[in-house]
Amino acid sequence: MSNRVPSIAMSAILALVAATAAATDGPSGAMEAPVVPRNIILMIADGCGYPHLQAGALWRDGADRFPELAALPVQLAVATFAEGGSYDGDTYWAKGPAGQPTTDSAAAITALTTGQRTHNGRLAVTPDGAPLPTIVEAMERGGRSTGLVTSVPFAHATPAGCAVNNEDRDRYLEISRDLLTRSPLDVLMGAGHPDFDRQGFAVKMAEYRFVGGQDTWEGLRAGTTGGDADGDGWPDPWRLLEDPEAVRALAAGEAPPRVAVVARVRETLQQQRIGDRQAAPFAEPPLTGVPTLAEMTRGALNVLDDDPDGFFLMVEGGAIDWAGHNRQPGRLVEEVVGFVEAVGAVLAWVAAHGGWEHNLLLVTADHETGYLGGPAPATGPEPACLASLPLEPRGPGVPPGLRFNSGDHTNALVPLAAAGPGSTRLTAVAGDVDPVRGLWLPNVAIGVLLQDLADSPATR
Ligand SMILES: [Zn+2]
Repeated sequence: MSNRVPSIAMSAILALVAATAAATDGPSGAMEAPVVPRNIILMIADGCGYPHLQAGALWRDGADRFPELAALPVQLAVATFAEGGSYDGDTYWAKGPAGQPTTDSAAAITALTTGQRTHNGRLAVTPDGAPLPTIVEAMERGGRSTGLVTSVPFAHATPAGCAVNNEDRDRYLEISRDLLTRSPLDVLMGAGHPDFDRQGFAVKMAEYRFVGGQDTWEGLRAGTTGGDADGDGWPDPWRLLEDPEAVRALAAGEAPPRVAVVARVRETLQQQRIGDRQAAPFAEPPLTGVPTLAEMTRGALNVLDDDPDGFFLMVEGGAIDWAGHNRQPGRLVEEVVGFVEAVGAVLAWVAAHGGWEHNLLLVTADHETGYLGGPAPATGPEPACLASLPLEPRGPGVPPGLRFNSGDHTNALVPLAAAGPGSTRLTAVAGDVDPVRGLWLPNVAIGVLLQDLADSPATR
């Protein structure tokens, strides 16, 4: 229960952030030249719908919404369907999600970052198999530094689809080798350590598939892996950090130009740890040998902000989805709270680095997982859409009443909160209205905006 955000510090940050947002986030009329932010931060809560966020906020604050997200001026819903799918709010709320095709994280990240729909399983590749310009490639071409941070292995779909073209998301070895030896990335952070298990215990038999194979890993440790990231003909080796103290130290002061973090745990920072997986949030002690998502985010920002041309950073709360698949209410809350703590780290950084004058922040999800809703009604029949049952608040520190109605993805709308130059362009393209969530846009609209911003030099 020690993971509460200190309320005084947070309210000061929120006041500053809200003030600058109000001052600079003007309307984007057709007459104005588009403003282009220097820094672009995309935060993706994997498998996180509206009830997931609410569950976390009820547990942490006893409130329906996190102030970190509610303070952002642009609030929209996002439809997540992949190539060939669709979303109809009247159908969803009248009948539930059954029979409506769902996206996976690969097709979703392709949509969110390239602006094009594809089939499930594909990373920045069209339905016909043609590679699409990844957002990292596009941002680098536009002069920005780039970074990917996640609470799961960086070879997983959401980070991978930002930087790699591959028609099969499951090719972890190939994907992680591409990320570490061929990509222009400046920051790459996640789990997936070859020498540790999910509890952070050393293993006898190393498993190198998340770190590009044994040769790539040994080169990382020796300071030789890295390729020619800036295209000047010279190698740009990664500085590898594994120790959580070293990640924390990265948040301030002089930073190396290129940093890879591989936390000493196999698949997720915390969600896969042993013990009672149905326990209340943090009842099973969190692993201490790994950094938090917020700590990695602070470190990533300090590495990337050395570039005067700006940066693109993607931060993923990757294990919210895993807690949903496994129907783990306590771990779901932990992962949501950890993601929102990373949002808080970004807000603090933004407040200290030009506010919403220079920085665009988009916080969204790639799809919903778990068909999450409130508990069964005490009396009367179940509604046709179980997601319409309200969560049951039980006060701060107590998990709310909730129910997973599926162990899989649904096509429910997911939330988007945004602030900064360019964010109101999303409001302008949100043309559909859902009876419960209000104005929504398709996920591809976010990718179209990001690709457009990537090609334009910063005006702010
Ligand atoms: Zn999933």
